[in-house]
Amino acid sequence: MFDLDEDERAIRDTAREFADEFLAPNALDWDERKHFPVDILRKAGPLGLGGIYVREEVGGSGLRRLDAVRIFEQLATGCPAIAAYISIHNMATWMVDRYGNPEQHERWLPGLTSMQLLASYALTEPGVGSDAAALSTKAVRDGDDYVFNGAKQFISGAGATDVYVVMARTGAPGAGGISAFIVPGDTPGISFGANEKKMGWNAQPTRQVIFDNARVPAANLLGNEGDGFRIAMNGLNGGRINIAACSVGGAQAALDKTVPYLAERQAFGKALLKNQALQFDLADMRTDLEAARTLLWRAAAALDADAPDKVELCAMAKRFATDAGFEVANKALQLHGGYGYLAEYGVEKIVRDLRVHQILEGTNEIMRVVVARAVVGAA
Ligand SMILES: Cc1cc2nc3c(=O)[nH]c(=O)nc-3n(C[C@H](O)[C@H](O)[C@H](O)COP(=O)(O)OP(=O)(O)OC[C@H]3O[C@@H](n4cnc5c(N)ncnc54)[C@H](O)[C@@H]3O)c2cc1C
Repeated sequence: MFDLDEDERAIRDTAREFADEFLAPNALDWDERKHFPVDILRKAGPLGLGGIYVREEVGGSGLRRLDAVRIFEQLATGCPAIAAYISIHNMATWMVDRYGNPEQHERWLPGLTSMQLLASYALTEPGVGSDAAALSTKAVRDGDDYVFNGAKQFISGAGATDVYVVMARTGAPGAGGISAFIVPGDTPGISFGANEKKMGWNAQPTRQVIFDNARVPAANLLGNEGDGFRIAMNGLNGGRINIAACSVGGAQAALDKTVPYLAERQAFGKALLKNQALQFDLADMRTDLEAARTLLWRAAAALDADAPDKVELCAMAKRFATDAGFEVANKALQLHGGYGYLAEYGVEKIVRDLRVHQILEGTNEIMRVVVARAVVGAA
């Protein structure tokens, strides 16, 4: 797992080259202008980044989850916010591949895998986040359609994306009454809230999605009625390790900026890098990132193998890697002194972007709930 062969290196390097050429040079500007670079995302499609672990026969790249986490780590070295959006797009696209029928594959996957169509994932609601099984957006069957009413909160990409994988209630309270749908963004009756003002992730919009008697064809139901919660959670296993890989990549970029900075910066008659205390900080940062990366690869391999402990491994990796990534990036800011706090050095943006990875796709407390359930269940 740890010695990459030629193909694996080529996959990783392609992602890095994309990040170096298109993301890194623009990341600060996009953050400042709150600009979602759809034109750049469209360039990612032909490189196979739109359906990384979607089957090749339906237009995907047919790669493993292990390849995906390596790709997202590299993309995030250029811009964690855009890498994370690409990760959400991949999660939604995989859900259409894995749970869709042949007609849905034909209708949606060519556009999604090529990134001519951009996707969002809509689970959270204003009143319901961690307790997603209590969601209340309704989809009521009426002839050949479902009629949607309700609102989704914090939807990444919303208003700028084309396809929404929406979890809505079609039945009784609880997880078993939830279904998943492919919902076109231009469906009459859908509107979007204002772009939220956020601490980070400014290069992608976050908006409410509001349904007011929005009619969605019944043909857009993913799987069967009542499958939606399971589909949403299965999507999140991969989503969580991909977001966590974005934390590792962002933090690695912050660490990579810190070493030359300390070598250059003089204080008390010598380069700061000569202080062993600061070298120890760098050693700990490197160690924490390597531990996070190793656990991520382990979780990704478990997902590839459909191992019985894949869910808790993905939760462990998400919790550990997003915490480690944030701490390392924050330490990098500290080691830059006052300059770390200035936007032009690029470190404070990484800290702001990585902070939300500890909150979304299941908070790190909920990751502990998932892991604890496995630990306690085994007793
Ligand atoms: C920038 C951004 C982008 C997002 N993008 C998306 C998206 O694209 N699609 C989408 O569906 N959602 C998205 N989300 C929503 C995100 O997944 C939720 O914010 C997250 O799941 C937490 O839900 P909540 O905010 O309602 O917090 P709450 O569930 O209200 O939790 C509040 C606090 O209580 C803790 N807590 C809750 N329950 C427990 C428990 N049982 N035990 C211990 N602690 C608990 C939580 O960990 C948290 O610290 C996004 C959020 C943000 C900020």
